[in-house]
Amino acid sequence: MRKVLVGTAVICAAAAAVAVTAIVVQHRRRINRRWARVAAVLKELEEQCATPTEKLKEVADAMTREMHAGLESEDGSTLKMLISFVDKLPTGDERGLFYALDLGGTNFRVLRVQLGGKEGRVVKQESKEVSIPQELMIGSSDELFDFIASALAQFVASEGVDFHLPEGKQRELGFTFSFPVKQTSIASGTLIKWTKRFNIKSTVGEDVVSELTRAMKRQGLDMQVTALVNDTVGALAGGIYDDNDVVAAIILGTGTNAAYVERADAIKKWQGPLPNSGKMVINMEWGNFRSSHLPTTDYDQALDAESLNPGEQIYEKLISGMYLGEIVRRVLLRLAVEAALFGEEVPPQLKVPFVLRTPVMSAMHHDTSADLKVVGAKLQEFLGISSSSLKARKVVVQVCDIVAKRGARLAAAGMVGILKKLGHSNGKTKKRMAFAMDGGLYEHYTLFRESLLAALKEVLGEEASASVSVTMANDGSGIGASLLAASHSRYLEN
Ligand code: ADP
Ligand code: MG
Repeated sequence: MRKVLVGTAVICAAAAAVAVTAIVVQHRRRINRRWARVAAVLKELEEQCATPTEKLKEVADAMTREMHAGLESEDGSTLKMLISFVDKLPTGDERGLFYALDLGGTNFRVLRVQLGGKEGRVVKQESKEVSIPQELMIGSSDELFDFIASALAQFVASEGVDFHLPEGKQRELGFTFSFPVKQTSIASGTLIKWTKRFNIKSTVGEDVVSELTRAMKRQGLDMQVTALVNDTVGALAGGIYDDNDVVAAIILGTGTNAAYVERADAIKKWQGPLPNSGKMVINMEWGNFRSSHLPTTDYDQALDAESLNPGEQIYEKLISGMYLGEIVRRVLLRLAVEAALFGEEVPPQLKVPFVLRTPVMSAMHHDTSADLKVVGAKLQEFLGISSSSLKARKVVVQVCDIVAKRGARLAAAGMVGILKKLGHSNGKTKKRMAFAMDGGLYEHYTLFRESLLAALKEVLGEEASASVSVTMANDGSGIGASLLAASHSRYLEN
C-alpha cells in the first residue's frame, strides 16, 4: 500500500515537473518571440532612418534646388525664401544707444545696448524678461501691445548714465517678432497669422510696427521702430557682428529655421530696386522643406497627420526639439504594444502625445551608467514605468540614438545645401564660411551637436570642411535686432 502511494506521488511529481517545464519553456519562447519582435522593430527603424553620406548629399542638393526655386517665384518651392529687407548687416562700426524687443513666445524680452564702434564694441548691455499674462494672449491687440509698450517704457525709464542718447535724437528699436509676417520694408510688415497659443483676431492683416508704435505713443514712450526682423535674421546679424565670415544662421531649438546672406541680383522674384550693398538677407523658413529624399517612417507620417499643421513643416518635424521626443515616444509605444517592452500592460502614460519631451530624451540618451539608472528614473518619472529591465533601457537608448542622429544629420545636410548655394564646396570658392547657431537643442543636446558636426565633415569632405565653422551665437536674436536697428538707423547718412 505504502509503495503504491509513494509510486503515485513520484509519478505526480514527475508530471508536475513536466508541466512546470512546459510552462517555463512556453514562457521562454514567448519572451524570445518578444525580443525578436523588438529586434525587428528596431532594425526596421534603423533602416528607415538611415542617412548614409550619399543620402545626405541628395538631401543637400534638394535643399539647394528648393532655394533656387524659392528665389525664382513666390510659390515655386517648399521654401518661402522670404525677403527680409535687411540689406545692411552690422560691420562693427555701429555706435550709439539702441533698443531691442524680442517677442516670440509666452515671454518677451527688452534689451538696450551702448555700441562703441570697432574699439568699444558692446560697451554695455542690459535686458529684462517679462512674461505675458494668459488672458492677453487671446485678448485685443491694443491690450497686448499696450502691455508690451508699458513694460518697454518702464525699462527705458530705468536707463542709467552709461547709456547716451545724443541731443535731438529719438531712441531706436529693433523688433524681433517671431510670427509669420509679410514684410513690406525694413520697418513694416503685416501679420499673416498668430501661432504658438496666441490668438488675437484684430491684428491679422495689420502692420505690426504701426500697432506697436501706436501703443508706444499711448504709453507716452518716444521711440521709433527702425527694424522689424525675424529671430533667425536677428541671430544672423548677431553672428556677423562677432565674426565677419558668418554667412548663415541656423536655429535649432523648439523649432528650426535658417537665414543667410544672398546676392540681391540672384533674387529673381524681387521687383524692388537693388540695394546699394548688393546683398539681401533671406529668411528661408527651412522648417517647411520637404523632399522625397528625406528618410521618413510610419511614426513620422502618423505624427504629421495628427499634428496641428499636417503636411507642413516636414523637415522641422524630423529635426527640431518640439518633435524628437515625440517620435521616440511613438516608437516606444509600438514596442510596448507589440513586444511588451515594459511588461504585460502598456504603460497608459506612454499613450499621451508629447509627454516625452526632448530634454528628457536627451538625458536618457546621455546616460553612461552601467545600469542606465537615468533611463530607469526618467521612464518612471515621465511615463509611469515603475520598473524596467536593463535590456529594455538599452532599447530606449538605442531608439533615442537613431532618432537624434537622423535629425542631426539631416540638419547638417541642409547646411551643406546652403553652402552649395553660396558656391562653397563645388570648387568655386575656398573662402572661409561660418554658421551662427542658436537654440537650446544644439546648445544642450551634446550627442545631437556632435552628430551634426561629424555629418557636416563627412558630407563636405576633409578639405572643404576645413574652411567651414560653426559657432554658437550668443543670444543672437536679442542683440542682433538692436544691431540691425543700428545698421539701418535713420540717422545714418546714405
Ligand atoms: P525656442 O526655440 O523656443 O526659442 P530655445 O532656443 O531656448 O527656445 O530652445 C528650447 C528648446 O531646446 C526646447 O524646446 C527643447 O526642445 C530644446 N532643449 C532644451 N534643453 C534641452 C536639452 N537639455 N536637451 C535637448 N534639447 C533641449
Ligand atoms: Mg529662440
